[in-house]
Amino acid sequence: MKEKGRVLVGLILMCTVLAGCGDKETKNKEEIKKPVSVAEGEVSVQGERKEEYPTVTEISEFTPVKESQEFNFNTDCQYYMMSHYLQAESEDSIYFVSSVGNILKVFDKTTKSVSIMCNKPECPHEKYDYECNAYFARISNIFYYNGSLYVLMAESREGEGDVFLIDLNMYRVSADGSERTFITSLYTIVGYDGAFASTTIFRVNCIQHRGYLYYIYDTGVKYEGESFYNYGSNCLRRMNLETLKEDEKCLAYMPIGSDYQQVSLMAKGSYVYYVKGDSEGFGEVYRFNTESLESEKIDIGTIAFEDLGILGSGILYKKDWQSHDIYRYNPDTGEEELFANLESSQYANCYNFNVDENYVYVNCKDNQDDKFNFEVLNYSGEMVYTIELDVHVSQGILCISSDYILYGAESDDENEIYYLDKGKIETGDAEYIKIE
Ligand SMILES: [Zn+2]
Repeated sequence: MKEKGRVLVGLILMCTVLAGCGDKETKNKEEIKKPVSVAEGEVSVQGERKEEYPTVTEISEFTPVKESQEFNFNTDCQYYMMSHYLQAESEDSIYFVSSVGNILKVFDKTTKSVSIMCNKPECPHEKYDYECNAYFARISNIFYYNGSLYVLMAESREGEGDVFLIDLNMYRVSADGSERTFITSLYTIVGYDGAFASTTIFRVNCIQHRGYLYYIYDTGVKYEGESFYNYGSNCLRRMNLETLKEDEKCLAYMPIGSDYQQVSLMAKGSYVYYVKGDSEGFGEVYRFNTESLESEKIDIGTIAFEDLGILGSGILYKKDWQSHDIYRYNPDTGEEELFANLESSQYANCYNFNVDENYVYVNCKDNQDDKFNFEVLNYSGEMVYTIELDVHVSQGILCISSDYILYGAESDDENEIYYLDKGKIETGDAEYIKIE
C-alpha cells in the first residue's frame, strides 16, 4: 500500500477492467460514479480532487482563537475516550460494542448495570441476528452528540448488473435501543464483481466535535496483487451534523499508507488534532483551527502517533513507543518540556495514554505476563495512583469515560465486566467492582 508506483499501476488496471465492460454497465457506472481522489500528485487522479485548507507552519502565523475553550459535554468531542475502540458516553450511560458479536451494550451509571441495547422481549440478542436492535454487522464507529448516540455502519446493496455498492451509513439510535433512524450515507463505493467484494479496503476514523463530524477513510481495491485507493480516500473532511452538508474543501490530505485508523484523531476547544502518519506508526502533528479554517503545524518533529494527548492547551506525546518519556509542548510559546518519566512504573512497557479533566492515564504492560495497569499521573506529571487490571483486557473491553473506567473479559463462555469510579482516585480508594 505504501508504494506509489503500485498505486498507479492499480489505477491503470482498474481502467482496463472498466473499459472491457458492456454499454449498459458503463452507463450504470456513469450514474453512480464518485470522484476518485488520492493523496499525492504522482498518482493518476480520476474525477475531482478537493481543494485543501491552507496550512501555516510558524507560531507567529497562528490565528488566536476567541470562542470558549471549555469542555461542553453536549457538543464536544469525548477526547478522553478512545474513539476507535467503539465507545461513547451520555450523561447517564456508557455505550460500548461487545467484542463478541458486534452487540451494542450500555452501562447505566446510576444502577451500575450493563444491558443490551435491544428492547425486543423474545430476542436472544445474538450475532448474525439482523432482527436484533443491538446487532450492528459492520459497525465502524459510534459517537455521542447533543443527547443522541450515533452509529456508523457499512452496508452493501446490489447495483445493476454485476455492480454492487457499499455505503457507509449513519444512524441515530434511541436511548433504549428500540429505534434506529437513518441519517445519511457518508460515502458509497462501487465494486464490479464478487472477486472485488472480499478485497475492498475499508477503514474509517471519525470524531464528532461541536456539531461537525470529522472523518477520514480509505477505500480501494487490491487487484491481482496491486493496491490503489479511490472514491475520495485519504482526505480528512467534515460534515455539519445539522445540515448534513460537507465542507467543499479537504481539511488535509494524508500520505498514502497512513494507518489513520490507529491515529489519534481528537478535538478540544477550537482545535481538531490529527497526525500525518506513515505506515510505520510515526507522524507529524497538526491542529485544524476551526475558527480560522487553517491547519497549524505543531513544531515537534515526528512522534509515535498512537501516543498523543491534549492537556489544557498543551500537547502530550511520546517520540518513540519504547520510550518511558512523555513530553509536553506548549503551542503558544513553542516550548517543549519533559512531562513525565515512567521508568519507575511497575511494568516495563508503557504506551497509549488518555487525558481527562484531572489526570493522565498511561497503560503499562508487563513484558512476560499478560498483566496491565494504569499509572495515573497528575497534571504535573507525577505518578499519584496505580490501577491494577488483572484480566487480559485485549480480549475484552476497556472504556475510559469522564467518570468511570470499565474493563472486562468477554467471550462466548466468559463475561465479567468491572467498573471503577474515577472520583475515588483522589481519596486513594478507587477499586474495581464487579458488575453483577
Ligand atoms: Zn435483541
